[in-house]
Amino acid sequence: MTVSLDYEDYDLGSMTWEDAETAIDDADFVVLPTGAIEQHSLHLPVSVDTLRAENLTRELVTAAPDRGLSMLRLPTLPFGYSEHHMPRAGTLTLLPDTYQKVVRELGSSISEHGAERLLIVNCHGGNSAPLKLAGDRLQREHDIEVYLVDWTSYAREQLNERFGENWSHAGPHETSVTELYHPDLVKADEKVNQERKASFNARQYTWYTDLTVQGGRGDPRDSDAEFMEQVVADTTERILDALEEDLEQSTDGVQTLQRSSDDE
Ligand SMILES: [Zn+2]
Repeated sequence: MTVSLDYEDYDLGSMTWEDAETAIDDADFVVLPTGAIEQHSLHLPVSVDTLRAENLTRELVTAAPDRGLSMLRLPTLPFGYSEHHMPRAGTLTLLPDTYQKVVRELGSSISEHGAERLLIVNCHGGNSAPLKLAGDRLQREHDIEVYLVDWTSYAREQLNERFGENWSHAGPHETSVTELYHPDLVKADEKVNQERKASFNARQYTWYTDLTVQGGRGDPRDSDAEFMEQVVADTTERILDALEEDLEQSTDGVQTLQRSSDDE
């Protein structure tokens, strides 16, 4: 049996400690991709957000040198805050306190080794609130700038234009991304319009299954991997634009690039 992780030369996981020492020193950003393991309806695997984090940060890290930026990627943090999906099997969650602690300890480790900027690229909406708090704490307690990018926020306009408002969890957006990178993991014959149970204005839902029958939103049959390839390319550039803009006005180390969180 072959055991292999798909590490490239910009991945910390491929390096010896001596290589890492140099790479951390040279990196403009040390990138932490964050995903989740949680139910994604009947047609997608529980690893969708983690697979998105892996693939979308690969696009970002490989595009960065064209802007004169160097990025070193940490291994993707596969687990996130997914308690709201727990009624469905396969979901694995860290509770918010644990999750914040994990992120803070990873950030403080990399800061101890000399990293100047930590860029968290998040691909799961549930992680956004605890990541924001963990980022605040890290920045105030360590000599490191924290940048928080919720990837989907930078794609939202384009996704709205194409799919309307209803493309989020396990819907056309995530189905398209999975079809683009891992088509073998999509159960095409299980793609059905996701039936809505409730749509609250102010009330918080307890479990995600309070809102949807199958576990997702929208109609995954509208997916379009080719369109998504363009969205990924455009979004990557928008994120790099935002980072460049922030670097230009970097003054006292208080940098947060968070937009509103998405349901993914
Ligand atoms: Zn998702």
